[in-house]
Amino acid sequence: MITVETAVVGAGPAGAAAAHSLAASGHDVLLIDKATFPRDKFCGDGLTTLCLRQLEDMGFSAEAIPSFTPIHGAKLRAPSGREHDIPLPDGPGLYAAVARRSELDHALVDFATSAGATPMFGHKITGIDTTNGVMLTTDSGEVIQAKHCIAADGMWSPLRKLLGLHIENYRGDWHAFRQYFANVGPKAESALWIWFEPDVLPGYVWSFPLADGRANVGFGILRGSGISTQEMKPLWPELLNRPHIREVIGPNAIPESPHRAWPIPARIDHASLVAPNTLFVGDAAMACDTLTGEGIGQALLTGRDAAAAILEHPNDFSQISLAYSTAVRDELVADHKMASLLGKVLSKPKAAEAALAAVGTNDWTRRNFGRWMFEDYPRAIVATPKRWKRGMFSGPGAVVTQP
Ligand SMILES: Cc1cc2nc3c(=O)[nH]c(=O)nc-3n(C[C@H](O)[C@H](O)[C@H](O)COP(=O)(O)OP(=O)(O)OC[C@H]3O[C@@H](n4cnc5c(N)ncnc54)[C@H](O)[C@@H]3O)c2cc1C
Repeated sequence: MITVETAVVGAGPAGAAAAHSLAASGHDVLLIDKATFPRDKFCGDGLTTLCLRQLEDMGFSAEAIPSFTPIHGAKLRAPSGREHDIPLPDGPGLYAAVARRSELDHALVDFATSAGATPMFGHKITGIDTTNGVMLTTDSGEVIQAKHCIAADGMWSPLRKLLGLHIENYRGDWHAFRQYFANVGPKAESALWIWFEPDVLPGYVWSFPLADGRANVGFGILRGSGISTQEMKPLWPELLNRPHIREVIGPNAIPESPHRAWPIPARIDHASLVAPNTLFVGDAAMACDTLTGEGIGQALLTGRDAAAAILEHPNDFSQISLAYSTAVRDELVADHKMASLLGKVLSKPKAAEAALAAVGTNDWTRRNFGRWMFEDYPRAIVATPKRWKRGMFSGPGAVVTQP
């Protein structure tokens, strides 16, 4: 039997961030994943300002990742076909970037283990008992006895299911496709593109640039829109061949592998965040942004919040549970509600068109929309004055290089 203070199940960004915070404070932590690293995660690979700021706070150098690509603005295409250039401030610091998840997650895992977290990869957790601390069992029969568990086991969270806290028939709030292309055209190589196609609302098509003439191309839709997940499959090649999309990706772009599809959980306001001696983080806490489907920044944030709660109250789970739930509520729930509201408005082509026209009013609106879109400002900033800060419209971006 392995005995440890905290067992973190899942070594994606949420689990790695939690394990890093705990280990860096001298806490005894085991980081478990069924995969071995590097492993892929179906994702757009987009790093928002929220994500970059979390990485900066952790002291993690994102720029060292081989595919790391800084982003200085976005090109948005409205449902009518009108294009808008959305610049991001010229620094100092960065507001957005793209990096392959296989590389980012591997580097984060190394970062956590270098800080002292013990890795246990290639082991799938198949059982949990929370009657006396937490007892976990693996598919190979190992038993892990921990005081606390952080469930960072992703969208399908087997731990949530084993504990009977899953939502019956829940299949995520978004469904998204992703495909890597090599040899993309100069437009896809040099810029981040988002297309609001009238028949894909509420949702969007993206092309995010990566190093070496590659791009991560995909599309996501909110469930409950007119398109079912079955209809997404034939829609994908059709979208790729729309002239304005093909023109950007380029006529000679080469798909590197078949497309991959995966759901995105975005209902933090409904998720149970705790179970006895257990905290749910990242996708296991359904923490993605409901407006865009982005969730890496939220995974890092919730992982670090869970670690902070354990470090603050190491011997009192009711205090851990309260501290963690309060932090998540303060940081994410109001934004989730605002984003859900906006999502409903933007699902109508005319409303999306009007919103994008308003964004394009002047340089200030364009730049600040860019920062808001990439999660530098909380989604509900307008409705939560207690989070207003002097100079918040002119602060620097995140520093991604090592000091
Ligand atoms: C197509 C698509 C595009 C996206 N694009 C973006 C984007 O551009 N930007 C962005 O910010 N977000 C994006 N997201 C969301 C983002 O990918 C997730 O929010 C993020 O990966 C959540 O991180 P996590 O650590 O919570 O979970 P994950 O990264 O899913 O990690 C969970 C880990 O748990 C492990 N695990 C699961 N079960 C077990 C078990 N039983 N035992 C042991 N280990 C287990 C898995 O192997 C995995 O490594 C996208 C999602 C999709 C589907």
